[in-house]
Amino acid sequence: MEKIKEYLKNKTFLKYLLYTIYILITVGVLFSLMNHPAIRNFFSVIENKTFDVRQNLLVPYKKVNKDIVILSVDEESYEYLLGKYGEWPISRDIYADIITYLESHKPSVVAFDLMFVKSLKSSNNADNKLAKNIAKYDNVYTSINFDNQSFDLRKPVDLPDYLKAKVDNKSHIDFKNSSLNFSNCRAIISQIINTTPNIGHINLVRGEDGIARDLPPFVVYKGDFYPHLAMKVAMKYLEQKEGLKQSDFVIDKDGNMLVGGRVLPFNGFGSVIMNWYGPSGINQNSSTFEYIPMWKVEKTMYEGKNLIPAGYFKDKIIYIGTSATSLFDLKSVPTDRIFPGVEIHTTFVNNILDNNFIKRVTPITDILLSLLLSVFVGLIVIRSESTVISSLVAILTAIIYSIAATIVMYFFNLWVGIVLQIVSIILVFIACYLAKYIVKSRDLEYTYALATTDGLTELYNHRYFQEQMIQNIETSKRYNKHFSLIMIDIDFFKKFNDTYGHQSGDAVLRQVAQILKKNVRSSDIVCRYGGEEMSIILTNTDSEAAVTTAQKICNAVSEKPLKLVNGKDVNVTISLGVSTYPQNGETPQDMIKFADDCLYKAKEHGRNQVGNLAKD
Ligand code: GH3
Ligand code: MG
Ligand code: MG
Repeated sequence: MEKIKEYLKNKTFLKYLLYTIYILITVGVLFSLMNHPAIRNFFSVIENKTFDVRQNLLVPYKKVNKDIVILSVDEESYEYLLGKYGEWPISRDIYADIITYLESHKPSVVAFDLMFVKSLKSSNNADNKLAKNIAKYDNVYTSINFDNQSFDLRKPVDLPDYLKAKVDNKSHIDFKNSSLNFSNCRAIISQIINTTPNIGHINLVRGEDGIARDLPPFVVYKGDFYPHLAMKVAMKYLEQKEGLKQSDFVIDKDGNMLVGGRVLPFNGFGSVIMNWYGPSGINQNSSTFEYIPMWKVEKTMYEGKNLIPAGYFKDKIIYIGTSATSLFDLKSVPTDRIFPGVEIHTTFVNNILDNNFIKRVTPITDILLSLLLSVFVGLIVIRSESTVISSLVAILTAIIYSIAATIVMYFFNLWVGIVLQIVSIILVFIACYLAKYIVKSRDLEYTYALATTDGLTELYNHRYFQEQMIQNIETSKRYNKHFSLIMIDIDFFKKFNDTYGHQSGDAVLRQVAQILKKNVRSSDIVCRYGGEEMSIILTNTDSEAAVTTAQKICNAVSEKPLKLVNGKDVNVTISLGVSTYPQNGETPQDMIKFADDCLYKAKEHGRNQVGNLAKD
């Protein structure tokens, strides 16, 4: 029992127990909060923002593939074409001619990010001509998209088998029950659908905040997979350039898929996260994708002007789309708030060609990193003597970790979390700081108790007694009150020691102390004055009440059999003396002297009694 008591008193053990409990509670609270969808969502929205920040920081160190060119209806081209032909969209004849023109320059791939839907304006002749020209070249691609709304032009049409992708999905991604499962198709003209397999979808995925960070390699429509246009374009390019031909797709159990020898790491929702190369190349100050305005091609084609350098399109992937603000195909991406849809798709192509996709680490990795950082910061806080140093270390840890996470994204294309980790660091810092503060104040309490208590009897010690005498005199003086002092001395204790031994003497001292405590109010202060002498300060007590209490104590001690160390019972008696403030003394010395005199009288008159100076 004593040993356990000693062990519990061991400060270090208790301290570390407390710290561990605090860290566990903090981490537990954090992780159980994360179970709530709203809180998880909050974390993921902020985490996405850290992705955007990292992507922007890394822009200067990324380079786009120079084999990709965007042929775009920009603001200038839009005005020029509208002015010349008096309508938008322009006749599909012109696109048919563009194909012929581009093909004469031997491009690698020509991809239309434009959708040739059935419309009132389209003429059958022009549509036929365009469809024929698309089918004529096996490197010309066009787009389609899917949705779940059912407007006039969005119908559940049947699509030919050659547009479907053979996908062997060994991963846990449930495409059929995801947001990538569609029931309607934005029908493009049947002349195209029926004559070319070179059609890919151009559906987008956007985050909660409307920002597109990832893209879906496949969508599911009426139970079949359809590949993304960018994937088809990239595969065609790689087939020509590296001889990598591929007809079907395998998504392995970790969600990775090989396309033309490159790895596409799917996230849990069936899309892949892009590396973004910078603000749109349409901006003068951006050095990303190269844009060539449509009007230059049109003038070169029809007016015999030579506005395009020779060989400009040779072996290039030419993506045709719109970037004019008036045509509304503008989205938000991590590196730009106004980013043309066509450039989102060239970014996808570029990610495939350069094997550049970002892989989000598993939640377990994020949790382990959080724990590691928390334990590190927690230990620093606990061990460091200086608050300045420990808070500096915590802040530096968060900063260095964030920088490391950015570097890891650059070199390994890995997206490790930052938000959960920094929140853990902050919470554990606060928790450990509080724990340390509590331990310190407990230490202080312990030291104080040690300084005011007598070790043998666990009564207050002499020093505390003297302090309390002064204190009580002060308060009694201020509030005009009484208080009393009882001095106690055990009778014939020297003989007792001689008879039963010092150990029994000690045991009896302890038992007498307990009897004293039991017989006074909790506001009274019982002290060991010295040796076998004890004193009691009775707050707010007048002389009469004090004498009564003293008598009660005297009886209680004499009546109670006390245990010796050998287990036998024995009785002792005490003698007592009482003094009261202010009538018997106005200083501690005077009061002690008066009570001592009374005590002496008690001894004189036969012991086992409360002494009375008047009685002589
Ligand atoms: P009296 O009735 O006149 O008080 O006789 P007494 O023998 O008790 O005389 P006195 O008060 O002078 O004796 C003090 C003795 O108390 C001396 C010492 O043997 C004993 N004593 C003092 N402190 C301790 C202690 O901590 N433990 C033990 N066992 N004995 C103590
Ligand atoms: Mg004595
Ligand atoms: Mg004595």
